[in-house]
Amino acid sequence: MNLPDYSLSADRVPVYEARTVTPSERDALMTDIAALLEARDAVLVAHYYVDGDVQDLAESSGGIVSDSLEMARFGRDHPASALIVAGVRFMGETAKILSPDKRVFMPTLDAECSLDLGCPPPEFRAFCEANEDRTVVVYANTSVEVKALSDWVVTSSVALPIVESLAARGEKILWAPDKHLGRYIQQQTGADMLLWSGACVVHEEFKSKALLDLKSLYPEAGVLVHPESPAAVIDIADVVGSTSRIVQAATELPNQMFIVATDRGIFHKLRQLNPQKRFIEAPTAGDGATCRSCAHCPWMAMNELQVLADTLNNPERMAANEIHVEPEVGRRAMVPLKRMLAF
Ligand code: SF4
Repeated sequence: MNLPDYSLSADRVPVYEARTVTPSERDALMTDIAALLEARDAVLVAHYYVDGDVQDLAESSGGIVSDSLEMARFGRDHPASALIVAGVRFMGETAKILSPDKRVFMPTLDAECSLDLGCPPPEFRAFCEANEDRTVVVYANTSVEVKALSDWVVTSSVALPIVESLAARGEKILWAPDKHLGRYIQQQTGADMLLWSGACVVHEEFKSKALLDLKSLYPEAGVLVHPESPAAVIDIADVVGSTSRIVQAATELPNQMFIVATDRGIFHKLRQLNPQKRFIEAPTAGDGATCRSCAHCPWMAMNELQVLADTLNNPERMAANEIHVEPEVGRRAMVPLKRMLAF
């Protein structure tokens, strides 16, 4: 089966301009939202890539800022009856799969992900059926329907050891959707992997030549790279890892300066934890890039304080932005997710 290129074309990536708020508007919004969360018995869980104000609000109101898996785990274990997921749609779905009895809302369901959009369930099902001898391992950045077709769900923090253990058992892997992360894992583990051809519109734009030029200007800087980036960028990294690994490395390594190749939303947490250190964005392709905002995911950018307040304030908007997962599909998706959690 010849697999077409499932990278998203530029016309499918939205242009999103985040609004600027004054400090007093920001304070008023944060106070209002915190009161609305309490009134709705809801907890806010936010991803490292969303707006810094939303991250601060999540933490100050008793929620969490973390990677997608930890967001879902935290939401499942929290006593609140409703979860507000500030991130992208697959994160809301993962939270719902792990907490089927809770109501899960997002500031806006328009917040998608190019990896999820680039892996349509009917085409993916056909790919699996054409390769039935392979163990299906999918990245967390996929729809609930794709997860339900898989044997394993993995995040970037556990993908390597899980594929390694499957390869040690002699299993051949069908991997989806991120081709760069798949190639990196293949190279690290030597596993027999057949790769889907999706990509993240943000990480795909990091450029190795420009990164080397920047590194020569700041030879003392550590280079931290998310493995959704192209192989030539990964090759330059001092540390390759998930968002949580990048946060950990920036804190633990002795360097006082870092060049970071992942969504720039993470700089908020990096600077909060390391106020004395300097962080620079890894260079992207600039104007001609598929990612219209370059180094910032346009879908993550939709999670603004004002959008969150508008949704929480309006029952119709709440209803329109609630995550629903068909129970049978959710049950099937829970199986590979539980395997990962138990690993
Ligand atoms: S940064 Fe990339 S992988 Fe993350 S949500 Fe945006 S498009 Fe998806």
